[in-house]
Amino acid sequence: MKIAIFADIHGKILLPFKMVDAYQKQYGEKIDLILQCGDIGAFPNIENLDKATIKHAKRDEQELGFSKQFLYINRDIEQFLDKLDIDMVCVRGNHEDHDFLDEKEAKNTNSRYPIDCYHRVYVCKSGVFQTFYADGEDFDFMGIGRIGDRKQRNDKRFIQDYERREIKRALDQGQKIDILISHDISSEMTSPGFGMDELRPVLNQLKPFAHFFGHTGQPYKVEIDENNQTFSVKIKELEFDVSGNLPEGCMFIVDKVNGVIEGDPVSIDFLCQFNKHTWLL
Ligand SMILES: [Zn+2]
Repeated sequence: MKIAIFADIHGKILLPFKMVDAYQKQYGEKIDLILQCGDIGAFPNIENLDKATIKHAKRDEQELGFSKQFLYINRDIEQFLDKLDIDMVCVRGNHEDHDFLDEKEAKNTNSRYPIDCYHRVYVCKSGVFQTFYADGEDFDFMGIGRIGDRKQRNDKRFIQDYERREIKRALDQGQKIDILISHDISSEMTSPGFGMDELRPVLNQLKPFAHFFGHTGQPYKVEIDENNQTFSVKIKELEFDVSGNLPEGCMFIVDKVNGVIEGDPVSIDFLCQFNKHTWLL
């Protein structure tokens, strides 16, 4: 079973699907699932954009991809996604319309819920065990969305009490997971005052094979977590640079075969075929 991992797509919802399609064609290997580490840019209503997104959207219309391409059905996109037949499962970041996501989350009793008109983009409920089946393997993961906060603020960018309760419940159950995805980095891995405290107990007790996160703006990096077991992987934000190219480490492939997990970023040569000005054409 193969899983493609991205982070911080900021409205370029279609891009990971296009990259996965190209990967399958180029390497002749099937991808079964896309995981996305938050800042989806899920803004159905342009009036509800947060300040940072308004600033970015003025420079780059692609930030508005959710409302333009994933809110109402576009037949070409629908056909493409139907043929591709892969779901993208995300965690919330800090840049989302959280009221919109709250409404979707409250209506759905499953561990993850669809947010788009094609039912291809899902968001994980934070701290809830997720399982995905493909190729006769099962793959267990958990998503923890939003960002951490040290100042007891509770606006919706920050992790909420009901999510902390879910995490505690999961820790009490102690089920093993293959992968943890979050938007934020674990607190002790970043500057004082930043990061998320809630990730450390999950890493220490559930000991996932790998933890993927985005958000910090730091380069792609793999290191061994302080639990001495988990590969901690900073996925590079899916953002085009000034020359219109994608950065190293913005797409990572995880492979699970007979219970054994391996992973690598895709090559720079592969990324070169996607350019800011041409990918959407
Ligand atoms: Zn973020």
